[in-house]
Amino acid sequence: MKAEILCIGTELLLGDTVNTNATYISQKLAKLGLDCFYHSVAGDNSQKIKSAIDVAVKRAELIIITGGLGPTDDDITMQSVAEYFNKELVFNEESYQKIEEFFSSRNREIPQKAKKQAYFPENAKVIANPAGTAPGIFWEIENRHIIVLPGVPGELHKMWEDSVQNYLEKFSKYVLVKRFMKFFGIPEGTLGQEIKDLMESDNPTVAPLISEGQPDIRIVAKAKTKQEAENLIKNMEKQILDRLGEFFWGYDEDTLEKAVGEILIRKNLTVAVAESCTGGLISSKLTDVPGSSSYTKLNFITYSNEAKIKTLKVSPDLIKGYGAVSEPVAREMAEKARKISKTDIGLGITGIAGPAGGTSEKPVGLVYIGISADNREEVHKININPAFTRKVIKCRASRYALNLLRLFISKT
Ligand code: ATP
Repeated sequence: MKAEILCIGTELLLGDTVNTNATYISQKLAKLGLDCFYHSVAGDNSQKIKSAIDVAVKRAELIIITGGLGPTDDDITMQSVAEYFNKELVFNEESYQKIEEFFSSRNREIPQKAKKQAYFPENAKVIANPAGTAPGIFWEIENRHIIVLPGVPGELHKMWEDSVQNYLEKFSKYVLVKRFMKFFGIPEGTLGQEIKDLMESDNPTVAPLISEGQPDIRIVAKAKTKQEAENLIKNMEKQILDRLGEFFWGYDEDTLEKAVGEILIRKNLTVAVAESCTGGLISSKLTDVPGSSSYTKLNFITYSNEAKIKTLKVSPDLIKGYGAVSEPVAREMAEKARKISKTDIGLGITGIAGPAGGTSEKPVGLVYIGISADNREEVHKININPAFTRKVIKCRASRYALNLLRLFISKT
């Protein structure tokens, strides 16, 4: 596959802006083993853009175009690309909503002109721009792969890492093997610091990514054979585990609930969950795993004090004395869930999901998680950032609980 880079912007021709996008993309293509024989630059002029595309499509199968996707009248790249292939631009509602969200999250009105950035050629696949308002596209047309990206380098880099790299890997002449390592309980910054030197490795590459509020590490190895690439990954993985092994829990598509399920099955254990603030989320996640009926029996959603007392038989004195969101109540919820459902393990969770209901003593985001077995029990106090929405707090609380359950049953 021959690639060509076309950068749009009169400022590039005038020498006001150094064309770092071409350098960045060339380096990325080289790492993928994709040949790039030409760079070109066109000013903000539709005829000139179209004639540059015309040259590019005659000598390359993959054309990566950057710049000129902004909302102003001189940003004409998307229009020119569509016109070159005699196609219309079509309004994309989903992209428009994302642009609206971008502005509203910054307390700004969406400018009238921003609507323009939600128009794409029909059949083009939109590339989300998490760092700005101008989405890009992947477009397969007339046996060519056209990729259009914004000019702002920070936006382009993020989109490359998040989407374009993945899209191009299938064209690489190397075998690329990718592995995600999943961690829990370590802040992103600390994890990044621990692997700072490893992130400088060229092959395999190592990068931290955030997924559901927790860091993953992505390792990508490139080699002539799959076995060679696997060996490179294995070696890197060992170095990472030597440093961060205590926080590591899974690979690739693994989920915490799946990891919990595997241990329960292996150890022939059953679990019951009594949930207050998570409202059934933990039960839902546990039962997302096929085969979970062998270890989940009876779970409880006891949101009100009354339900905790009536259904779970939590002592009313405990609730009165310590409050429903407290260590003794979480402990008792876990124990009673276990005893009533006759399982080996019980988990109880109670907390303040917000946005109301917090006090200085018990702020929004405070969660207690109790875990009970016949011969052992634990209660953990977690403080989730109160600035998160209720939904995020519930989700994070359920992940904390599943991770603590995983650690507890690993030792059982
Ligand atoms: P957005 O809509 O997000 O602003 P855009 O696609 O319209 O992006 P441009 O208006 O072309 O981007 O350029 C925005 C800025 O990005 C420019 O002022 C310039 O600083 C920078 N830029 C554009 N092209 C390049 C390039 N090839 N290399 C480095 N910087 C560039």
